[in-house]
Amino acid sequence: MLTVYTVLVGAYEVNCYLVADDQARALVIDPGADEAEVAAELHKQGLTVAGYLLTHGHMDHLCALNPLHKRFPAPVGLAADDAGWAFTPLNQLPPYPRPIRPAGEILDVAAMPVWTAGGPVCRIIPTPGHTPGGVCYYFEQDGLLFSGDTLFAGSVGRTDLPGGNERQLGLSLRQLVKLPPATRVFPGHGPATTIARELRSNPFIAT
Ligand SMILES: [Zn+2]
Repeated sequence: MLTVYTVLVGAYEVNCYLVADDQARALVIDPGADEAEVAAELHKQGLTVAGYLLTHGHMDHLCALNPLHKRFPAPVGLAADDAGWAFTPLNQLPPYPRPIRPAGEILDVAAMPVWTAGGPVCRIIPTPGHTPGGVCYYFEQDGLLFSGDTLFAGSVGRTDLPGGNERQLGLSLRQLVKLPPATRVFPGHGPATTIARELRSNPFIAT
């Protein structure tokens, strides 16, 4: 049984999720851009970091990765298609600082069907469209999906940013809505939802 803690971080109000197993080992999904807030929540809940999983490379989701990784080293997963530009000036937008690449290897999650590099195990579903290297993390046993900026409650990710692709996003969403209807969906921004609710009421998802 996994426990999900949500930390709202940064100017764009990204949801950083801490997904912890019963031994208090946590995956940090999208550290966002406020390492102090994330570190405080880890401390408050008594969690150790088992890994950092990025849904995609945008700066609002990963500026705090390097400072957190320095304090709490653990494996990092980010699709290679996004890791190529995520730590360059292309990904710098005020008020965010320039994202700095953490030391060590970055695991290409788009090429891994399952995350087994540390902490809770999850399936990795490549969902390009919002960015070329977007992925979602699916914890099948617990019925949890971390959808990044691909799927939101009542909306979907924008495709007008560099590397965005509307057709690909449509194909990615088609994959997600095949998941069990009771799956709880935790997006990169805004409230949590379920696949069933999005199938019923999300105007961007054709049923
Ligand atoms: Zn994004």
